Amino acid sequence: MYLKDCIFCKIANGEIPTEAVYQNEKVFAFNDINPQAPVHVLIIPKEHYASLNELDDKELMGELFAAVKKVAEKLGIKEYRTVINTGKSAGQEVFHIHLHVLANRDMKWPPG
Ligand code: 5GP
Ligand code: ZN
Repeated sequence: MYLKDCIFCKIANGEIPTEAVYQNEKVFAFNDINPQAPVHVLIIPKEHYASLNELDDKELMGELFAAVKKVAEKLGIKEYRTVINTGKSAGQEVFHIHLHVLANRDMKWPPG
């Protein structure tokens, strides 16, 4: 499904031209516009799902995690943080599910 007013649907469909860090038929990975680390990549499904709560396709879940590893390989990073914010209070601002991949700086845990 494609949501007309969704910015990440537009990125996935090429309506907003965006350089891919990695992509295949199902997923698209690109640099975050406001990076929180030297490496900050977002991985999205090309189909619209608002959040992890709506994502019910297990094959696509696998594709998203496989893409994390592809991105890490491609960028030559072996240590990284992968984040999925689900819902406003958890920090989700764009309601098209995305995985953050952050690397190349020291990160604290817990995140706060
Ligand atoms: P969230 O807070 O929803 O987990 O993460 C949304 C992320 O999307 C933020 O890190 C934000 O910087 C990024 N973002 C929002 N709009 C755009 C955009 O138009 N292009 C890109 N590349 N990143 C975006
Ligand atoms: Zn969307």
